[in-house]
Amino acid sequence: MTQRILLTGGAGYIGSHTYAALVEAGYEVVILDNFSNSARDVPDRLELLLDRKIKVIEGDVLDRAMLDRVFAKHDFDAVVHFAASKAVGESVKEPLAYMQNNIGGLVTLMQAMQAAGVFRLVFSSSASVYGNNAQLPIAETAERSYGNPYGHTKLVCEQIIEQTLASDPRWAVGVLRYFNPVGAHPSGLIGEDPAGVPDNLMPYIAKVAGGELPCISIFGDDYPTPDGTGVRDYIHVCDLADGHVLSLRSLFHEGKGHVVNLGTGRGYSVLEVISAYAQASGRDIPYLVAPRRPGDAAATYANPALAKEMLGFSARFDLGDMCRSSWEWVSTQAQSADA
Ligand code: NAD
Ligand code: UDP
Repeated sequence: MTQRILLTGGAGYIGSHTYAALVEAGYEVVILDNFSNSARDVPDRLELLLDRKIKVIEGDVLDRAMLDRVFAKHDFDAVVHFAASKAVGESVKEPLAYMQNNIGGLVTLMQAMQAAGVFRLVFSSSASVYGNNAQLPIAETAERSYGNPYGHTKLVCEQIIEQTLASDPRWAVGVLRYFNPVGAHPSGLIGEDPAGVPDNLMPYIAKVAGGELPCISIFGDDYPTPDGTGVRDYIHVCDLADGHVLSLRSLFHEGKGHVVNLGTGRGYSVLEVISAYAQASGRDIPYLVAPRRPGDAAATYANPALAKEMLGFSARFDLGDMCRSSWEWVSTQAQSADA
């Protein structure tokens, strides 16, 4: 029998790629999104990509009455919860809005799930719950901490999930700690589309390659890393999407949850990413060295062993694939804007 999944935040960057992966894996999926951080045409693009009608509910996960109606109407077997606010800098300026949306959203959703008798949940957590001093490669057992309000919301959400699990054995929750998602779907139809000047490295480099921004600032070249620039574990968004399919499968088959890293286990420096992107795009990527960004860790990368052991997950795509797919998406977007 086809299992039915509610995808909150399914019009967003990771949510839209996961939608495609879940449909391809045979699940019946409904998107719930308030479009606060996603383009209105994402469902149309998904229809084009998958050649089928997409079911989208426009709504807010803080709206309990709406959630109750949605659960009453659809017989969901599980929920994948992406809907949240994710900009670290914005969270420092507006901590209360982040607490409300990320923590309030999870609590409201879990209450509605409980009332509807739906107890399987996949939750988008983040490597930000490890803070900046974890031993490398970072294992799930590393002590948790946070460096900003956004990271704090993810840590509190994980604690809320743990306490809820302890209170009721019917819950089975997959907590997925993403490292640095980048890249886009190979179709060129969906990808990351940040409004304004991007905060994150790869979307920024993409705009430099496309000529929208003049150069990239490297935030620090005096870190204790091989070339002095910051090291991160970049993971292709399509690999990440597949991780959600495996997480759900495990919840259905094992009937119990898991807390796992989703990363490649391989770190790349800022200079390595710039060089890989220049190669993928065939464009020059001018850069200058700027001071360190406050709060940045020198290096973070995952120990991916537990995700492999528990879910059978391992990343398929390398940095070249990530850059090529990003460039494909960015250049396709630019062409359609020019047309
Ligand atoms: P995104 O902003 O592209 O997607 C989030 C989606 O949720 C958007 O479509 C937005 O409109 C929607 N949304 C936000 N608040 C909502 C609400 N109250 N009700 C309904 N919809 C709402 O972000 P993303 O990069 O796809 O991230 C998805 C999840 O993964 C988030 O929980 C984020 O914190 C987490 N995460 C992201 C990263 C990353 O680098 N992108 C890393 C680690 C964890
Ligand atoms: N970075 C940079 N210039 C930028 C944006 C990011 O040098 O314009 C660096 C940043 O210091 C870090 C890496 O790129 O070492 C990844 O940063 P990002 O914001 O993408 O991810 P996060 O720091 O949240 O892991």
